[in-house]
Amino acid sequence: MAVLFCLPLLVAGWGLAGSFASTDVAAPTPAEGVFYGSLSSSSVLGVTILDPLAAAEVVAAAKTVSIGLLTGVLPVLVVYGLVRGRAFCGWVCPVNLLLEGLDWLRRKLGLRVAERTVPRRTKIGVAAGVVVLSALLSFPVFQAFSPIGAVNRGILFGAFSGLGVLAAIAVLELFWSRRVWCRSLCPLGGVYEALGRVGQVNVAIDHDACIHCGKCESACLADPEILQPALAGEDRIVRAGDCMACGACIDACPTGALAMSLGRR
Ligand code: SF4
Ligand code: SF4
Repeated sequence: MAVLFCLPLLVAGWGLAGSFASTDVAAPTPAEGVFYGSLSSSSVLGVTILDPLAAAEVVAAAKTVSIGLLTGVLPVLVVYGLVRGRAFCGWVCPVNLLLEGLDWLRRKLGLRVAERTVPRRTKIGVAAGVVVLSALLSFPVFQAFSPIGAVNRGILFGAFSGLGVLAAIAVLELFWSRRVWCRSLCPLGGVYEALGRVGQVNVAIDHDACIHCGKCESACLADPEILQPALAGEDRIVRAGDCMACGACIDACPTGALAMSLGRR
């Protein structure tokens, strides 16, 4: 998705491609394209779409709210609110892709790390802290360190300045705790977790088919504990806002007890 959004800019001769362009013909402006931008701020068919955390940081830093910011955040809140907040983490965020590669590497190298060292709701506090800090420093703090921003800058400008953040996440992942960044620390994940509590796309369980083998918990990329109420027979869906609707538990279940469903039952 990050590559997709950056592609029109690169093709039009902006960003990194512009560094090599040697023509007097003016490149078309990004606004002339159907879609362009990054995962923090983009335009699709002329509609501006903004990352809600980035927008909150800008509002806090500038201490003023613009209509443009509000209308830019609204489509994101509506779509992810209706579907499932952390579907962004499971299906769009490039960091999840990196961590899936590191999962594979860790298994290959036989590296064992703790399953959960930091409570998963810590990231909501991190999100609140980032907004408060942005207000105090009059600067959108997380945007300077965001690994998603680092990936975007790398694709668009060939910039390596954000590689340190991605390397730090990789070290945490390989040697300290499985998925600690996404599960517990990423402030954008915190925002989407809060939004995910009303999502309508959910994993549903057939209690009669479950043999309690635990394979779904081992496969869960978000946090195995979010499956507990459903596995214990206390709920018919995975209700936690942390579920990314990634489907890994469904693929892992040997009896077909799990399936995607619509509605919160
Ligand atoms: S593995 Fe299942 S419960 Fe865990 S995040 Fe993915 S869809 Fe949700
Ligand atoms: S993988 Fe399927 S059968 Fe095994 S515990 Fe999970 S839901 Fe039950």
